[in-house]
Amino acid sequence: MTQKTDVLIIGGGPIGLGCAYYLQKSGRQVALLDEYEIGKGSGAGNAGHVLASHIIPLAEPSALTSAFKWMFNSATSPFGMKVSLDPNYLIWLARFALACNQNNVNRAVEPLYQLGQLSAKEFSRMIAEEAFDCAYQKAGFLNLYKSQKAFDGGRHEADFLQTHGIATRVYSADEIQEVEPAAREDVLGGVCFPEDAHLDPALFLSALKGRVRQMGAELLDGVKVVGFEVADEKIVKVKTSAGDFEAEQIVLAAGARTATFARELKINIPLQPARGYSLTAAAIENMPRHALILGDRRVALTPLGDWLRVTGRLEIGQYDRTPNPLWIERLENFAREYLRFDGKLNVKETWAGLRPVAPDGLPIVGKSPKQKNLTLATGHGMIGLSLATGTGVVVSQLLNGQKTAFDLSPLRAERFQ
Ligand SMILES: Cc1cc2nc3c(=O)[nH]c(=O)nc-3n(C[C@H](O)[C@H](O)[C@H](O)COP(=O)(O)OP(=O)(O)OC[C@H]3O[C@@H](n4cnc5c(N)ncnc54)[C@H](O)[C@@H]3O)c2cc1C
Repeated sequence: MTQKTDVLIIGGGPIGLGCAYYLQKSGRQVALLDEYEIGKGSGAGNAGHVLASHIIPLAEPSALTSAFKWMFNSATSPFGMKVSLDPNYLIWLARFALACNQNNVNRAVEPLYQLGQLSAKEFSRMIAEEAFDCAYQKAGFLNLYKSQKAFDGGRHEADFLQTHGIATRVYSADEIQEVEPAAREDVLGGVCFPEDAHLDPALFLSALKGRVRQMGAELLDGVKVVGFEVADEKIVKVKTSAGDFEAEQIVLAAGARTATFARELKINIPLQPARGYSLTAAAIENMPRHALILGDRRVALTPLGDWLRVTGRLEIGQYDRTPNPLWIERLENFAREYLRFDGKLNVKETWAGLRPVAPDGLPIVGKSPKQKNLTLATGHGMIGLSLATGTGVVVSQLLNGQKTAFDLSPLRAERFQ
């Protein structure tokens, strides 16, 4: 039996759910499906940082030298790579290397700024208006440094961000002890982005899922998309494990897996997964006040009410979502280097997720270059939670034929065709 719907969204991560919320709110009838459980994919166990300040893409001038240096220090490296001769993977790596330049940064900052600001505003509004109970706090995002070199790098980056409209504060070692008493005394200083926020991503996604269902969307857990039927430059059927779907409009928001669908649809979307891990432990005595990044280690920490979450690692090319115990232990050790606790953490949960990363580090949002009724919403990399609300707004505007909140052309998939 073929099921008919107005808008079909493929993928129930932060992006798919964000799109579902704004589309349903605009009066469209949405069906959202996910191979697993909606709201439980790569969004639920992440750090929960809602960062409008993150406007420098992953592909920036120092990324290649840092990656090269880290490859020779595998026990502490925040970065890993799979070894493979898969041509899609090798092409992605080559494209990433070519994009690590200042031109790419200059091209990326404006759309990332616009999408980040829109998203931050919408997070505040949505959480207050919908009364979502998700430990949301606009307490700022604080980068802590233990080496002078990393602190200098952080200050340099803050200067750049400030010229692009991002509020920043630089703290000395003494000031850090005042604003973040959870930090150890040997922390040299920090850079704070006071407008940023954090929340419990699993609670947020679960609340959003509930609200989207209440608004009348049809939510289908455990339904896998297996193929498409295309005619006259339109997707006429989406084939799934629960039968066929026909939809006026389709939104493809399947995270790191979007590249596979895109190949079938003859669209070039060079995405790779960047796997990361998290551990969630019972709150420690000195809980941090801010969402933190341990600058020298590139590890994130988040106070989530009764829980402390530690996340890190970026492993390009890995799809398997099994947490690596070795890295979980290392994450705990890195947290201990910066925070005042000496014993073992009482770890309740370990987790792994996939960041969908495009080689230039920019999301891919816009109408498909090939099929008239397909919209792409993916490739948000390290900040897919942060950008979920703004992406939902602009995808809803696109599908309703409205002018988008800002110019989406730098984010369109055409840049890879
Ligand atoms: C360790 C770690 C920490 C992170 N911390 C943060 C953070 O603090 N802040 C932030 O903003 N971002 C963070 N991220 C990034 C963020 O989690 C991702 O960018 C985000 O999850 C991407 O959302 P998405 O909806 O595009 O993809 P996903 O969350 O991957 O969702 C895609 C969904 O599509 C479904 N799907 C795939 N194939 C099919 C199919 N064939 N049929 C049906 N469904 C399918 C999947 O099951 C999945 O649920 C972090 C990521 C990791 C790994």
